[in-house]
Amino acid sequence: MTQKITPLIAGNWKMNGDAGSFLEVEVIKDRLAANEVNAQVVICPPATLLHRVSVALHESAAKTGAQNCHAAPSGAHTGDISVAMVREAGGEYVIVGHSERRESYVESNADVKAKAAAALGGGVVPIICCGESLEIRESGKAIDVVVAQIIASCPDFDQSQEIVVAYEPIWAIGTGKTASSGDVDEMHNAIRAALVERFGDAGAKIKILYGGSVKPANAEELLGVENVNGALVGGASLKADDFWGIISAA
Ligand code: PEP
Repeated sequence: MTQKITPLIAGNWKMNGDAGSFLEVEVIKDRLAANEVNAQVVICPPATLLHRVSVALHESAAKTGAQNCHAAPSGAHTGDISVAMVREAGGEYVIVGHSERRESYVESNADVKAKAAAALGGGVVPIICCGESLEIRESGKAIDVVVAQIIASCPDFDQSQEIVVAYEPIWAIGTGKTASSGDVDEMHNAIRAALVERFGDAGAKIKILYGGSVKPANAEELLGVENVNGALVGGASLKADDFWGIISAA
């Protein structure tokens, strides 16, 4: 069931970053140029910086992505951005269904699936997030809940398209707590089995990222777990040295 998959390390800057952040981007760009790395690197800055970061990373091995998109191609959606806008700004990926958006904007699995389908239709790779609350983890239902969530959030896709899945336990995001490698192993294996059941061979190739307080000190252990095909990194993606530590661990 397991295949050789190039890991993906994606940085989610959330609502952080300004002109000074370009220094960090330049450091990552220079280190990628000077070192051989076994990972695809993606930086997802706030929408206002997406174009500038994409230009800064032009001809670099790193790519950029947005943190959200609307499912509709255009229209009366104040404050939103479409997939075509993401693409025009240079973004090749988009994070959809992050738990912070599921919570703050009451995004349902159906909403997330529609956004992911729109991303695919516009030539952008969706990074589809899922993850359980502490309450669900403690109830012993984490695997059932997360598998149901991810299957309901993933659209169908064809051979020319790619989707990425990110498992992020909500209680581990920005808290400094990480899931144990045993829990991550169990969850990622369950997600892999569900993806294979739903998508067949294509499901065996989907990258499943782990996210939740990943840092240089724990990256090697987490990235070494079977079916962990990369990381979605929040806080530690803001500083080039930390982000580089995670990239090199891959
Ligand atoms: C995230 O928000 O996607 C995330 C994983 O954040 P952090 O790494 O800060 O926990």
